Amino acid sequence: MFKKIDHLGIAVENLDEAVRLYRDVLGLKYAGEETVAEQKVRTAFFPVGESSIELLEPTDPESPIAKFLDKRGPGIHHIALRVDDVAQAISALKAQGVRMIDEEPRTGAHGAKIAIIHPKSTPGVLIELCQRDQEV
Ligand code: ZN
Repeated sequence: MFKKIDHLGIAVENLDEAVRLYRDVLGLKYAGEETVAEQKVRTAFFPVGESSIELLEPTDPESPIAKFLDKRGPGIHHIALRVDDVAQAISALKAQGVRMIDEEPRTGAHGAKIAIIHPKSTPGVLIELCQRDQEV
């Protein structure tokens, strides 16, 4: 069901500063930024081999990323696993008794269809299911 690690999501306080670090200092390839209004985040993507790094900055104190930063500070926020069909993956996981935050697929950055597994089912790790038609 899982194809690869699609991306690692990293919560940052300041996206512009973080982009300068990852693009200009570390020298990663930069695929641009996008605001995901529904999630109240600005994101920036850096493709690395078969996967990507996604930086996330909250645009609102009510953003899940703002809450994460308050509690834990900047750092790895989630692991996104690529699947062919998010709706099917949700059903398969639920059949195994896995709790989902998203019972239905929703739209993430770069037009991906995503769903998050409830962290009660995967202690200490937030896992996103991610389906996309084209690479970042
Ligand atoms: Zn993500």
